[in-house]
Amino acid sequence: MEIQKLIPRGYCHGVVNAIKMIKQLDLSQQTQPIYLLGMLIHNKKVNDFFAEKGIRILHNPFRTRLELLDHIEEGTVIFTAHGVSDDVIQKAKAKHLDIVDTTCSDVRKSFDVIEEYLSDGYTIIYIGKKGHPESEAARSISDDVYLIEDEAELDALPAFEKVALTNQTTMSFYDVYRIHQSALDKYPNIQLIDEICDATRSRQEAVINQDKDVDLCIVVGDHLSNNTKKLAEVSEKEANIPAIVIETLADLDINRLTNVKKVSVTSGASTPTKITNEVVKFLELFDQNNPVTFHTTSHITKKNVL
Ligand code: SF4
Repeated sequence: MEIQKLIPRGYCHGVVNAIKMIKQLDLSQQTQPIYLLGMLIHNKKVNDFFAEKGIRILHNPFRTRLELLDHIEEGTVIFTAHGVSDDVIQKAKAKHLDIVDTTCSDVRKSFDVIEEYLSDGYTIIYIGKKGHPESEAARSISDDVYLIEDEAELDALPAFEKVALTNQTTMSFYDVYRIHQSALDKYPNIQLIDEICDATRSRQEAVINQDKDVDLCIVVGDHLSNNTKKLAEVSEKEANIPAIVIETLADLDINRLTNVKKVSVTSGASTPTKITNEVVKFLELFDQNNPVTFHTTSHITKKNVL
């Protein structure tokens, strides 16, 4: 099968840094428990890898990071690359926990920008995914930060005297651009601050620029990963090329390859390279007329994923 491997794809610098920081912890020397506050990155196999090494992962999509901290009384707490609010940091300090903060520098910068504008008297409208740790952390910076997901929620907001609009780092830049246009109609003096990180932007640009004769775009990544989902959305909505998200080769339904002559492959910023490479290798060998090539067994496990 013909394959276009989109570049860049896969790990971003924030994920590489987070994994490196945790690998540097000498787990064998720890006498007290180590907790991950949420999933380190949105990839189950990577989190399982660390759970296997003895790190306790506190993950509950219905609980905030602040609430999850109630389950920790001693030891080390690891903050994930998505960032945490100042309340979480203060609470961890009050509990005398050792802190390992893997917040991505791009996320940190976006929080700093929000604080700067707030201190200048602005109200902040923040485009982000509800329940996502990064947007929850941004919202918790101040009651003057309003979280919206789309234009309809923008319409429902009241008038503000001084207002700025910014966003979660992993949004689709097309969605953000559209909301910018609506925001300018509603608040002609609004300050627009685009905080989509370079890693997200460049991966989306590669999807937009994929070959026009691609029949199917395969996005390898976790269903919880916002940047992964956005890559699939960009392919469908902006490049007009159908897309599927698969977490590993095992998720690939070969019926989706029927009559497909050319596929493109990309992966989310938290997808280990080994997982994507396995999918690419399968596609290279796949032959619609040869059932021997149909087996989508994945050999990537939590032990060998990193
Ligand atoms: S996707 Fe962007 S913001 Fe998120 S960890 Fe990677 S570089 Fe940082």
